[in-house]
Amino acid sequence: ANANDDLKALIRTIPDFPKPGILFRDITTLLLNPAGFAASIARMADATHGPIDLVAGIEARGFLFAAALASPLKAGVLLIRKDGKLPGATIAEDYALEYGQDRIAMHADALAPGARVLLVDDLIATGGTARAAIRLLRKAGASVSQAQFLVDLPDLGGAKLLRDDGVDVSALIS
Ligand code: 5GP
Repeated sequence: ANANDDLKALIRTIPDFPKPGILFRDITTLLLNPAGFAASIARMADATHGPIDLVAGIEARGFLFAAALASPLKAGVLLIRKDGKLPGATIAEDYALEYGQDRIAMHADALAPGARVLLVDDLIATGGTARAAIRLLRKAGASVSQAQFLVDLPDLGGAKLLRDDGVDVSALIS
């Protein structure tokens, strides 16, 4: 047993979502639990080292964790969105999906060069999304040395790829 088994019990697995054969880890049940969500944010804040200027959250569930971490980390929130959703001038990054590709974007003026950014999302699987976010943030001049997730699916290898990119990765549930 590890210290985060209490959190693991708050997520559920939905088979065949969004497609047949996929086991989707549903975190909405953890969000509904006041003590579980509060403990998740407290543990993510504790796992963060050094000063952070901005918490970058990935649309959409990553926004929830980024927003809640901003206050304890005394940081602002930077939105990484699907392309086409942000109103100002953006920079974008493409990444491969199982079939086809997708594009994420951020406001081009969202950060100052050298800003210390913590990347946050609900879950890391293949790491394709998080790696695209890191490329985008670094293209904008950010220093991205840490990434945090509620859930890591280690068999899919994403966390290892991020570590190979020089990012300190932590997750509360594996
Ligand atoms: P990756 O790019 O690492 O393969 O997939 C991670 C991204 O897809 C994250 O933005 C995450 O929200 C979403 N995602 C993929 N699989 C799941 C899942 O089983 N549960 C949840 N909650 N999100 C998932």
